[in-house]
Amino acid sequence: MIPVKVPTGAHRQRTGGDMTGIGSTSAARSAVVVGAGICGLTSAAALAGRGWRVTILERAKDLAGIQTAGALHLWTNAMLALRRLGLAEAVEAVGLPIEQTEYRDHRGRVLATWPVGRIAREHGVTDLALGRKDLHDALARAALDRPGVRLHLGVECTGATQDDTGVLVTLDDGRTLAADLLVAADGIRSGLRAALVAPTQPRYSGYGQWQAVLDRDHAAGLLPVGVERIMFGRGRRAVVHHVRGGRLLWEGILYGPPGRAALRERKSLLLRELAAFAGPVLAAIEATAEGDIDAQDVYDLPPLNRWSTGRITLLGDAAHAMTTNLSQGACQGIEDADVLSECLARVPDIPEALAEYQRRRLARITPLARRSRRVAGIGGLSGPLSTGVRDFVMARALSTVALRDHRNFVAAMP
Ligand SMILES: Cc1cc2nc3c(=O)[nH]c(=O)nc-3n(C[C@H](O)[C@H](O)[C@H](O)COP(=O)(O)OP(=O)(O)OC[C@H]3O[C@@H](n4cnc5c(N)ncnc54)[C@H](O)[C@@H]3O)c2cc1C
Repeated sequence: MIPVKVPTGAHRQRTGGDMTGIGSTSAARSAVVVGAGICGLTSAAALAGRGWRVTILERAKDLAGIQTAGALHLWTNAMLALRRLGLAEAVEAVGLPIEQTEYRDHRGRVLATWPVGRIAREHGVTDLALGRKDLHDALARAALDRPGVRLHLGVECTGATQDDTGVLVTLDDGRTLAADLLVAADGIRSGLRAALVAPTQPRYSGYGQWQAVLDRDHAAGLLPVGVERIMFGRGRRAVVHHVRGGRLLWEGILYGPPGRAALRERKSLLLRELAAFAGPVLAAIEATAEGDIDAQDVYDLPPLNRWSTGRITLLGDAAHAMTTNLSQGACQGIEDADVLSECLARVPDIPEALAEYQRRRLARITPLARRSRRVAGIGGLSGPLSTGVRDFVMARALSTVALRDHRNFVAAMP
């Protein structure tokens, strides 16, 4: 566990090692961001865009190793935040527009279709499908291009103390680093969160998720470009959509006790478990090499009621890891970065700005994370009767209430 204490004393005088006192002399305010994932990089770019000097600490030795597998959907709300942060162009350059999201049952019957491309255009942006690595590379380039941003790889943050003059961050090699602000974007198993709030353990979501991005040659003709297809079966789901370069993401979701994601025989398991699914998912799995399939048990966090203490705050999955059912985890981390930088620009006192950030983000995220967990439960129904009723209800609700809620949600300024 990482100690986060609030002692008295001037942290400005207590820095040591190569990174001494990034915030101590210049007029620009300084921040340390722990974690160079999608959300850490976005927050670093956001703060630098507002004139902060930012040091990113990442324990991985190589940025390229952080995000390798799979792809994700950035919805209108995330694209709006990226546009406000001046990052939309960089991300659009590596993304592929999604025009419609189709919900189907496992036999292929359409339950509802959402015109996500049109909704995004109403707000002047585009929903995007992105290879994870492509998105991560683009954000890393954009963040590191901004003046005042430095990245330290192979460095683990082991603790932090603070007083009313600043934060002192400690590293695993014994060095310390002084700054005005500490942003913990260190993921679902955040050590800083464990020290900041009551130690909150991730909870198993009830399912594992297998995924791969299929190359252009094998993906050709499997699915119309611009379509995201989400299919609901009995205790199983599948998602499929293209990403840039003619490639195709497929995901298979299997409900059950944790542990199956660790099995080596991934392809045969999925082909067996998803055998009843119509459409491109089985063909896509068939065409994927066993070694290219990534798998993980999916966890979320119970909603927190506190993200910030003094000059230290949480961001991204460290604050609100959610189940994957609404595809909003990274989108919400991107919104965090936008709101955090805006609060810090408007409210001069850092602890007050962080309290404002926490207030706004909790109001947005708490109901969303709960909904994501509820949808996970609905997706896990497995009896013929319960799934029949579910599909009947979904066919009506998705086109009406859920679509209206989605429109309101993406349009709401966080
Ligand atoms: C299968 C799947 C599909 C998903 N699909 C979508 C989607 O379509 N749309 C969407 O919006 N979201 C999606 N998500 C969620 C999204 O992937 C996450 O919300 C997002 O990647 C979290 O990013 P992060 O930067 O907060 O955390 P992470 O990616 O976990 O990054 C944390 C970083 O911190 C580093 N770190 C940790 N501790 C320390 C330390 N002490 N010192 C230094 N470095 C440290 C780690 O090495 C890591 O690089 C999906 C998730 C899954 C699992």
